[in-house]
Amino acid sequence: MKPAPFRNYVEVLPGLYQVRTKGSKAYLIVEDDITLIDTGSPGSGERILRAVEELGRSPEDIKHIIITHYHIDHVGGLSELQEWVPGKTGVHLAEAHHVESHRPLPNPFQHPWLARICEPYLLRNDPGAARVDVVLNDGDELPALGGMRIVHAPGHTAGSISLHFPNRGVLLVGDAMQYKFGRLMLPSRMFSQDMPEAAASVQKLASLDFETLCFSHFRPILEGADRKVREFACTLPPK
Ligand SMILES: [Zn+2]
Repeated sequence: MKPAPFRNYVEVLPGLYQVRTKGSKAYLIVEDDITLIDTGSPGSGERILRAVEELGRSPEDIKHIIITHYHIDHVGGLSELQEWVPGKTGVHLAEAHHVESHRPLPNPFQHPWLARICEPYLLRNDPGAARVDVVLNDGDELPALGGMRIVHAPGHTAGSISLHFPNRGVLLVGDAMQYKFGRLMLPSRMFSQDMPEAAASVQKLASLDFETLCFSHFRPILEGADRKVREFACTLPPK
């Protein structure tokens, strides 16, 4: 028996694919047009385009790129991809300026000592300025997967967004939550700007209905995910 060919993507649901990039996971929504969610760390562009080609499509089909937040492992491949694909890029209002700026991305480490140690590495790998075509706000809607709603979920960063697809029962949370050892958790304290706000965002997300929950660093929860988020939200202190 021939081994299965290596693929750069995994199907989560029909039309929704997870792509392992450098540093995180991006998502492709493949319909008449393709919507790309996040772009990995610098150097991830080729891997994302290879996944698009493996799906039998072309880079020109990527018409929308949505960034969940400005951390380098989500926005790092954006400027390189913008040279190859025509898609319009959307970033939340609170952090579009970080993505567009010619200054390095803000240091994500919250501990001042760690921030200082990692600063040279971050500066060396900074992806540089990228284009933002659409500034996103809470409640904005795009057509992907029968309707994609932008849910502002600050805390990890000020402009973090989650993406809710009510018609397909999917919530994609970026880094707004972690899922380790079968347990939901708040985002990493090491990289999150405001933990009480992150907890309030989980409570906001717990009010949504969905079956499948997708993360940027963990495997998805495919069934009954909203109940799990509600149970987790009940354990968090009210803001
Ligand atoms: Zn992050």
